[in-house]
Amino acid sequence: MYRRKRILVTGGAGFLGSHLCHRLVDDGAYVLCVDNFFTGAHENVASLVGRPNFELIRHDITFPLYVEVDEIYNFACPASPVHYQWDAVQTVKASVLGAINMLGLAKRTKARILQASTSEVYGNPTVHPQPESYFGSVNPIGPRACYDEGKRCAETLFFDYHRQHETKIRVARIFNTYGPNMSPDDGRVVSNFIVQALNGEPLTIYGDGNQSRSFCYVDDLIEGCIRLMNGPDDLIGPVNIGNPCESTVRELAEMTIALTGSRSVMVKRPLPTDDPIQRCPDISVARAQLDWEPGVRLEDGLQKTIDYFRGVLMSHSRPG
Ligand code: NAD
Ligand code: UDP
Repeated sequence: MYRRKRILVTGGAGFLGSHLCHRLVDDGAYVLCVDNFFTGAHENVASLVGRPNFELIRHDITFPLYVEVDEIYNFACPASPVHYQWDAVQTVKASVLGAINMLGLAKRTKARILQASTSEVYGNPTVHPQPESYFGSVNPIGPRACYDEGKRCAETLFFDYHRQHETKIRVARIFNTYGPNMSPDDGRVVSNFIVQALNGEPLTIYGDGNQSRSFCYVDDLIEGCIRLMNGPDDLIGPVNIGNPCESTVRELAEMTIALTGSRSVMVKRPLPTDDPIQRCPDISVARAQLDWEPGVRLEDGLQKTIDYFRGVLMSHSRPG
């Protein structure tokens, strides 16, 4: 008998998780979206509620979860520095206890499980661009460590479950991604700059603005993750998923001002501790093994994101 694939998405009401849920529901899977709504928003998945192949469950993955599934995308963890540093201990728990619980679930159900890891495992890199073989340069006791080391430990757990229990793992190292469904108060650079520009407020440049990031549009990222999940059995990763087109923070601010037509100026703010100086993925593995590379240019992705935030800010300003 035909049965839909049952896919669990943890962190499914967040920015990336909600895009993943929409894509998987549209593709015909039965999607269980699990979220504790720490940084996620019900609105991100509201249009899926009521669809016959979508289920929304409020749950914190630092506690065990008993469901029957075929695949797990483990995306639950705050990702913005402002949010993950707000309760650092809970961030470590979300990564480490969350990984243990979800790997335990994968072991019992024999599900394939994909971990949303991060370019932060490379810390402040001394190799540029960063290939998966680079072990990273992370300060284990700084304010970013709860996230960086939490994610590194989660990777360790994934590979140990694979070696010890033959759990079917995939590890995606995600680089800075942006797009609709980011929260206006997310605190990451793209949403901050767009909201500031649309509100006519100064754009806050941390440090001198010469630090770099490589920004990937969300649709490209989701496609990369789905290809990795469905790739050959032996392609367990880690695989870098990101856009190798690098920009400085100042260039991003200038582009945002130009695209919004804003009169905002830029103001300098102190550079946060351990803020990486440069970051750019080497995506040779994803190109060769997944036949994947990003297709959306920064200007085009930013324009779509600006249009989204215009709508959000307008609905916030409407009375009632
Ligand atoms: P986000 O903050 O928008 O989403 C995270 C979601 O996880 C939220 O809905 C939040 O409520 C939920 N959550 C947090 N702790 C939870 C817990 N204990 N139990 C259940 N749900 C919990 O962030 P995002 O940008 O969508 O990131 C999603 C994942 O991708 C994260 O694991 C993040 O580390 C990873 N990632 C994202 C980026 C990026 O640029 N967006 C880059 C690298 C890695
Ligand atoms: N940044 C900035 N202004 C802001 C927010 C962030 O200049 O309002 C900088 C931040 O210092 C970092 C880069 O933008 O160098 C990316 O920050 P973000 O928080 O988006 O992600 P990170 O890659 O640091 O996790």
